[in-house]
Amino acid sequence: MIRPARITQVLPDSIAAEVGFTSGDAIVSINGSQPRDLIDYQFLCADEILELEVLDEAGKTHHIEIEKDYDDDLGLEFETALFDGLIQCNNRCPFCFIDQQPPGKRESLYLKDDDYRLSFLYGSYLTLTNLTEKEWQRIEQMRLSPLYVSVHATEPEVRTRLLKNPRAAQILSQLEWFQSRRLQIHAQIVLCPGINDGIHLEQSLRDLASFHPGEVPAVASVAVVPVGLTKFRPQEDELIPVTREKAREVISQVRSLQEEFRQKFYSTFVWLADEWFLIAGEDLPCESEYEDYPQIDNGVGSIQLFIKQFIDVANQLLPAKVPPRKFTWVVGNAVERAFQPILQRLNQVSGLEVGMCALSSDYWGQSITVTGLLTGHDLITKLKGQNLGAGILLPTVMLKHGELVFLDDISVAQVSHQLHTQIFPIAGVEEFIKTCISPIVVS
Ligand code: SF4
Repeated sequence: MIRPARITQVLPDSIAAEVGFTSGDAIVSINGSQPRDLIDYQFLCADEILELEVLDEAGKTHHIEIEKDYDDDLGLEFETALFDGLIQCNNRCPFCFIDQQPPGKRESLYLKDDDYRLSFLYGSYLTLTNLTEKEWQRIEQMRLSPLYVSVHATEPEVRTRLLKNPRAAQILSQLEWFQSRRLQIHAQIVLCPGINDGIHLEQSLRDLASFHPGEVPAVASVAVVPVGLTKFRPQEDELIPVTREKAREVISQVRSLQEEFRQKFYSTFVWLADEWFLIAGEDLPCESEYEDYPQIDNGVGSIQLFIKQFIDVANQLLPAKVPPRKFTWVVGNAVERAFQPILQRLNQVSGLEVGMCALSSDYWGQSITVTGLLTGHDLITKLKGQNLGAGILLPTVMLKHGELVFLDDISVAQVSHQLHTQIFPIAGVEEFIKTCISPIVVS
């Protein structure tokens, strides 16, 4: 069922603000069509005359006509991108992170999305196992490209085993479908030792590479990511954690294929997530290897990019001296070594003392943890009673998107209260540096 598109924000000085929209209003139709998602909304708004049916918060219907330039944005934000609900997943992957969470949390934390619209809009990964003929047609007609596809394996029996779904076997013919329509995907392989590694990984990468040549490569890039396991995973799930030895083996295997692909395509084409190097205890590839970072959201090159951006901004913004202050920078212990150059550079500023707390997650039961998986519980249990200085520098990758809440549903305010300290969420390099050097306001 399509619901009216509920508005949460009207951007100042926008067309919508001028017309008098307020948050709480909802768009029912645009030029007679009901948008089912943000993609429809954007498509329908690409016109010079819009006739809108709008429902206000009191439930009253209004008809509004807007004249604008074809590509003018109305300046509205909505409570969701999907006005007809989420398309859920029909697979049963043993490594699914949703099933590896503790029970008893909010229902929304257990929703398994596998929605091509979110893939197109936000780069989330989908499996293509639940698309109806109508949805395939829509992808083609609206040119919804690139999409981000969890391939995992190209051999039908291996992919079926991983997704626990017979429809998973069709991946190669689906890639042909994209290719014949000049549409693109970025692929991901979550590597599970003993299932899709070794010869299966090689086969998958070679199959995917066969879709790369051409003016519009059907498979634009591939990321290989190690399976992540938590202590809440179902018992007897046939999964084996990635060891240091396995990480080294995968790095060496993928490196030799990268070499081959570079010669053939003038592009590395397949990249390893940073986590492989952290688990293996090996140096990360240099920043230039990542080209234009096509798989940055998969943790491919994000450490090197962060360091590069830090150095650029630090050279512009970091003064030689600040009034004395001390901060505690919390990160996952996986990046402790990689981020030492940043720590050293910050501590060169006279008066500034930044201490790094590199934590693992007892909450998830991991001995090596990436920053994005640390929870409020981990911070409270590991930092209680410590001298944290003026406060904690908290990378926002630990928080749920757009919320001041950790993955375990504990809020930043709760952690701040428990640790008797201020918390400074930092979203990027500039905010990180500015927080370190700006006057401290005690809240
Ligand atoms: S496709 Fe994604 S959401 Fe669905 S079971 Fe597999 S990992 Fe979980």
